[in-house]
Amino acid sequence: MVGVNEALGRTVTPFTFPPDSPNLHMLQATVNDAQRVKYLEPYARGETISAIAISEPGAGADPAAMITRARRDGDDWVLDGRKIWVSKVDEADFTVVMAVTDPARGARGGISAFVVDRGTPGFEVARAIPIIGGHTTYEVVLDNCRLPAGQLLGAEGQGFAPMQLRLIVRRLQMGAWCLGMARRALTMLCQHANERTTFGALLADRQAIQWWVADAETRIHCLQLMLWHAACRQDAGADVRTEASMIKLYGTELATDVIDWAMQAHGAMGMTKELPLQLMAQRVRVMRIYEGPSEVHRWVLARNRLREAK
Ligand SMILES: Cc1cc2nc3c(=O)[nH]c(=O)nc-3n(C[C@H](O)[C@H](O)[C@H](O)COP(=O)(O)OP(=O)(O)OC[C@H]3O[C@@H](n4cnc5c(N)ncnc54)[C@H](O)[C@@H]3O)c2cc1C
Repeated sequence: MVGVNEALGRTVTPFTFPPDSPNLHMLQATVNDAQRVKYLEPYARGETISAIAISEPGAGADPAAMITRARRDGDDWVLDGRKIWVSKVDEADFTVVMAVTDPARGARGGISAFVVDRGTPGFEVARAIPIIGGHTTYEVVLDNCRLPAGQLLGAEGQGFAPMQLRLIVRRLQMGAWCLGMARRALTMLCQHANERTTFGALLADRQAIQWWVADAETRIHCLQLMLWHAACRQDAGADVRTEASMIKLYGTELATDVIDWAMQAHGAMGMTKELPLQLMAQRVRVMRIYEGPSEVHRWVLARNRLREAK
C-alpha cells in the first residue's frame, strides 16, 4: 500500500482507492458477526462509503475533550452533540460516530464508537464547509439520535483504541502521499533548473538551487526508508504509533518544503494555476492539520522520549 499511495500522491486527480482503508482497519478490529455482514463485507468490496465523526467545535487536536454524549435508554442508545470537519459524510452510507458513554472515564474507558446509517432520524448534516485543496468538510448535528444496541461498535467505553488504530493507518498513507508529491515536485524542479537560464547561467548551476535539490533528495530518501520500515513493522503486528507520528510530521513538512522550492524555482510560472504545484501546495498545507497537527505530533514524540529518559 506504500507504493499505491505514493502513486496516488503523484497525481492531483482526486481518487480514493476503495475501500477507504483507515475505517476498514477500525471495523476489522471491532465488528461483531452481524456488523461484519452488514457493514464490513460490503465496505471491503468497495460497495459502500463511510465517514468518521470524531472532531467537535471544542475538541479537535484533543479528541479526548469531546462532549457528544451517548446515553442508554432501554436497549437503545441516544446520541446528542455536534461534530465538525467531517469528510465525506454527505455521501457516506454510514458514519462511525465517537461519543462519550462515561464522562468520568473519558478517553480511558468512557468513549465509544457507534455506526450511524445515512438517514437515521436525529443525524443531520447541518452545513458544508469548503476547505482549500479541493476538500469539503461538514458540520453534523446529533439531536436525540436513537440507535438500537446493535449499532455500538466494539465494547462499550473502548472506542478510543480502535480509533487510534485508524489514525495510524491514515498517517502511514499520508506519508506515502507526501513521498509521491515530493518526488513529483523535485522532478519538476530539476527539469526546470536544467532548462532555464538567468544571468547567463542555468539555474542548475546555481548553488542556491543545488542545495534545494540535495536536501530534497536526502529527505525523500529518509522518508522512503521510514515508510518501508514502519509498513514492515505494521504488517508484522508491531505497535507503530511512534513511527506513524514521525512519518506524518516529517512527510508533510518535507513535501511542504519541496513543493515550495519547486514553485520558487519556476518563478512566475510557479504561481500560476497552469502547473499542478499550487494544488499540491494546498493539499499538503491541509495535511499539516488533519490526523493531528504537526505541533501535537512533536509534543507527543517529545513527551514520550522525555518520559523514557526519566
Ligand atoms: C480537510 C480536513 C478533513 C478533516 N476530516 C475529518 C473527519 O473526517 N473527521 C473528523 O472527526 N475530523 C476531521 N478533521 C478535523 C481534524 O482532525 C482537526 O481539524 C484537527 O485534529 C485539529 O483540530 P482543530 O481544528 O480543532 O484545532 P485545535 O485543536 O484547536 O488546534 C489548533 C492549533 O493549536 C495548536 N495546538 C493544539 N494542541 C497543541 C499542543 N498540545 N501543543 C502545541 N500546539 C498545539 C496546533 O497548531 C493546532 O493546529 C478534518 C480536518 C480537515 C482540515
